[in-house]
Amino acid sequence: MKLRELTALELGAVIKKGEVCVREAVQAALDAVAAQDGALNAFITVAGERALCRADKLQAGVKDAQSPLYGVPMAIKDNICTRGVRTTCASKILGDFTPPYDAAVVEQLADAGAVSLGKLNMDEFAMGSTSETSYYGPVKNPWDLARAPGGSSGGAAAAVAAGMGWYAIGSDTGGSIRQPAAHCGVTGMKPTYGTVSRYGLIAYASSLDQIGPLCRDAADCAAVLDVLMGHDCRDATSLPGLDSDWNGSGPRADYGHLLERLTGDVRGMRIGLPAQCFGDGLDGAVRAAVLGAAQVLKGRGAEIVELSFPVLEYAVPAYYIIAAAEASSNLSRFDGVKYGWRAEEYDGLADLYRKTRTQGFGREVKRRILLGTFVLSSGYYDAYYKKALQAKAVIKDAFDRAFEGCDLLLTPVTPSPAPRLGDSLGDPLSMYLGDIYTVSVNLAGLPALSMPCGLDAEGMPIGAQLIAPHFGEGAALSAAHAFQLDTDWHRRAPKGGEAP
Ligand code: GLN
Repeated sequence: MKLRELTALELGAVIKKGEVCVREAVQAALDAVAAQDGALNAFITVAGERALCRADKLQAGVKDAQSPLYGVPMAIKDNICTRGVRTTCASKILGDFTPPYDAAVVEQLADAGAVSLGKLNMDEFAMGSTSETSYYGPVKNPWDLARAPGGSSGGAAAAVAAGMGWYAIGSDTGGSIRQPAAHCGVTGMKPTYGTVSRYGLIAYASSLDQIGPLCRDAADCAAVLDVLMGHDCRDATSLPGLDSDWNGSGPRADYGHLLERLTGDVRGMRIGLPAQCFGDGLDGAVRAAVLGAAQVLKGRGAEIVELSFPVLEYAVPAYYIIAAAEASSNLSRFDGVKYGWRAEEYDGLADLYRKTRTQGFGREVKRRILLGTFVLSSGYYDAYYKKALQAKAVIKDAFDRAFEGCDLLLTPVTPSPAPRLGDSLGDPLSMYLGDIYTVSVNLAGLPALSMPCGLDAEGMPIGAQLIAPHFGEGAALSAAHAFQLDTDWHRRAPKGGEAP
């Protein structure tokens, strides 16, 4: 049995049957890491010994295991706190930070019998679209080592694509799960804002950040989300009423149990194609692949609806103002006093702050802090920040209107396939514009996923995005599952990886 070719659910099933033991699965993943991560740099910290010890402990409980993911090795983005395991946010300033507590999602995964292989590389503080801004060096795309894997959860996407673990946990503030998933040929989902606890996620832009899975396919995403979703009183933005004992009415009544509800039946589902998402600036191969996905869904009984989404052009400016504003506030806690690294030589308190932050943060993080401080400063607040909040409200309204005429929206994830390493670093503005299809989803707090839907002429993966109304994860995952029943893009793997 080639373990690498299994999905997380398939691996969970053979572990449950006793055909594969947990240690064997962990060892296979660690062998894949040893063989490939020197080239890919997807991990910042590999916790091999810890994973093997955990495997042996879990083995004793296989027979009684409830979760379909019990014993399945996975890995976690390095902005999610893990007790006793260094959590750097890919920054020098947190280079020696070992959290004294686990993030809520880490606790939930542990309860479900997950085994973590370690912590995944990313853009510094999740700011970026290529995973090149990490203090620990850029992540490489397993499909072509000369290209970026996308960002900021680039390590997560590269690890899953290369068979270094069966799924990964990432975070998405403006596309950081969906975009690297698209560039690496994996399936990733950002859930509805407030459905997964952010407790223990190191904040970038708190009103936009959400944790979610990167997996081999939609069914695995459903299984991981079933573990992650739920109310947590330690996160003030966590939504109540998500647990199985919810007795209310309305859209949350049948929330959860995504895996059970994954029928793959899209008959009568109305799938909207927003004209503005297929206009100028979109690569021809990406357009063809995403429109091809629409045809596959149509073939399974969905209805394709064309519609207009005229506010798309406001999404990138509004997002970058709001995200930078929140980042400038969130990152003020890194001052060399409370957490992590401190400049070695300084002359007084002001100099300690200045030197620690100057030397501890990278260029992109400093750019965001400066931009965020500027848009919040008196005299500019109304012109930029307040206007961005108004644009956010307009975008949310536009989505509400769009969903009056359709059940899901289908769009590209990115305007083009994965960029070459180095191309984006010198031109941040064009990198920001590459987020055009993903950021509006976070501004509106909606769930959306990215699924592989083709390869370009150079063999690079292309992703299609499905966006659902709030709490519509089930519909988006069902449509993706339907697509994956008829196609095998999600089963393609990059060449060159050692199959565990
Ligand atoms: N590329 C976007 C940014 O740099 C999104 C990042 C993210 O989702 N964390 O802000």
